[in-house]
Amino acid sequence: QASNATFPPVLDANEQILLDSFDNTSISTWSYYYTHGAHVAGRNRSMAQWTADRWAEYGFASRLDEYYVFLNYPVSNSLELKYPNGSTFTASLEEAVLEEDETSSYPDRIPVFHGYSFTGNASAEYVYVGSGQRVDFDRLEALGVELEGKIALAKYGGPFRGLKVKNAQEHGMIGAVIFSDPGDDGNLTEAKGVAAYPNGPARNPTSVQRGSVQFLSIYPGDPTTPGYTSKKDSPRADKSNSVPHIPSLPISWLDAQPILEALNGFGTPGAEVNRTNWVGAIPNVNYSTGEGSGATLSLSNIMEDSITPIWNAIGIINGTNQDEVIIVGNHRDAWIVGGAADPNSGSAVLIELSKAFSKLSETGWKPTRTIVLCSWDAEEYGLVGSTEWVEEYLPWLKTAAVSYLNIDVAVSGPVPDLSATPDIHAIASTLMKKVVYPYRGSSDQTMYDVWFEESGEFGVLGSGSDYTSFLHRGIAAIDMGAGGGPLDPIYPYHSNYDSYHWMTTFGDPGFHTHKAIGQFLTLLLYHLASDSALPLEPADYIPELNTYLEELNETIASTNGTLDLSALTSAISTFSTSALEFNDLRESAISSNDSDLLTVTNHKARDFSRGFTSQGGLPGREFFQNLIFAPGLDTGYAPVTFPGITESITFEGDFDLAQEWVGKTADAILVAAGILKT
Ligand code: GLU
Ligand code: CA
Ligand code: ZN
Ligand code: ZN
Repeated sequence: QASNATFPPVLDANEQILLDSFDNTSISTWSYYYTHGAHVAGRNRSMAQWTADRWAEYGFASRLDEYYVFLNYPVSNSLELKYPNGSTFTASLEEAVLEEDETSSYPDRIPVFHGYSFTGNASAEYVYVGSGQRVDFDRLEALGVELEGKIALAKYGGPFRGLKVKNAQEHGMIGAVIFSDPGDDGNLTEAKGVAAYPNGPARNPTSVQRGSVQFLSIYPGDPTTPGYTSKKDSPRADKSNSVPHIPSLPISWLDAQPILEALNGFGTPGAEVNRTNWVGAIPNVNYSTGEGSGATLSLSNIMEDSITPIWNAIGIINGTNQDEVIIVGNHRDAWIVGGAADPNSGSAVLIELSKAFSKLSETGWKPTRTIVLCSWDAEEYGLVGSTEWVEEYLPWLKTAAVSYLNIDVAVSGPVPDLSATPDIHAIASTLMKKVVYPYRGSSDQTMYDVWFEESGEFGVLGSGSDYTSFLHRGIAAIDMGAGGGPLDPIYPYHSNYDSYHWMTTFGDPGFHTHKAIGQFLTLLLYHLASDSALPLEPADYIPELNTYLEELNETIASTNGTLDLSALTSAISTFSTSALEFNDLRESAISSNDSDLLTVTNHKARDFSRGFTSQGGLPGREFFQNLIFAPGLDTGYAPVTFPGITESITFEGDFDLAQEWVGKTADAILVAAGILKT
């Protein structure tokens, strides 16, 4: 419902100390530090130590946790287009050095490449494959386009980039080139008269999106140690199912233009392919599939493969109840020198947060529950630092973790965007009402007002950041940040221009959004760590589970199959009864001030969501244990609810398998209900 909270918000003394401590100028200082040095995974030890040192200064016991993982780094690459008449175009594979943007010229800037890409050369004709999702390839097959032995030219957007390469590989293609397209930038394009970075908010035509091409939806973490932690002497498994066997490269739209243009007039014109998002907005290009063009690409991608150390910085304040732990995480590694939004807007916020808690500690305050701050390494390659850490500390985390709070891109624009497990929705809403949120020139709204106006809904967690390993071990989780709306400056994701200069000019001049998001995270951590009744609401799963059930019914209705969902329906109803009884019990614990009973209800709130997990994981992907939400097999990022059931239908078309997963999903919900039962 719309906010009827007073403005300015009313805070208690501790909240006031925490929020008053937040200072946009000092956030800017932390941001400046993080955005002026190379920090690709495994090559950022000084930044890890610096982070641990700041946290130590602010009263957290800090250390570095080291893992030895498979990473690869670019050595050399090239991409050449050969026209049928023998003339050539050589892609620059370079982002322009801009005088205005200091770090775009840093000598230790990283060339354009894909993390975990395959070392190799490929020379062949090429086919434009749209966004490279399964449906795109199905469409190409229906059109009779020969794919085997060709190079895939795919556009960014839609599924996780690694799945584009995976789909190309599975269709017998021998290489992949992925380009950014201004068509994904709405009206903010040069073609529509908007100046490009650094002169304006449109995308710089030379900007390139780096990023990992591991097969995210199978398992995250170090590809050589699936399911167990990667120490120096850990045995190494075959990684060939989780990283590509064909080389790939990311390119800018400027480099993509002649390559696409050479396909004009060959194969099926883009407008006739009849697939969403097939046609982009690069000038003079009609996005044809391209058979028979006679043009070829020669792609070379040479990587140095290594097993190399990475470092998670960890900072701890022990609570009086050490069997209750709140974990806050942000990754520190970036593909580039800058990383002002991804991930160091979050990193800067975490330093400021630790400072706020040191201010509160000066009053003698101590948390009831243990607080753990984590600065992850190697998120970009595939959530590696967080996954190895969860794998190492799993027994402790399964017993003690109350929730995991993730902040990756804290700020890439002004609009708050939150995704969370349902049990965190209520406390997050309450606390958003306590944060003043400067927004598009106004300063008399709370974060809740702005969020309510702009979305008013929590997203469902899929994957793509470090909450994944926690969520799939049944730990309550939230992912938070603020991004751009359709008229806000284009965020140069994973390009050299995600820099301090971009942030201070376009992303968040003055760091006011950083401050507000940081204040929200700080309050959330404070309340989870110190409220006597743990502010998690199991009963808030009830409406959500019913929504997922409705959506499942719609999915089934859109097919010819049938499924008996009675077990699931009845499990949700049992869960609802238990969750409401739990509320009564907690109410009586609070009103009678019975601390033993509160411990019982707090532990139920901490533990019930472990019930949603299944040891063996989802079909074909053991790692993903949560049976309520998972990243889509065909999307990589975007979530699927009741994934065992839903994907057996939508991905496998196998209703017997789906029926089996109705039973397993219902059982998991009953386990969660059993933990809540009073
Ligand atoms: N956040 C990174 C990305 O989107 C890593 C995701 C992953 O590999 O799991 O590229
Ligand atoms: Ca591992
Ligand atoms: Zn990130
Ligand atoms: Zn990233």
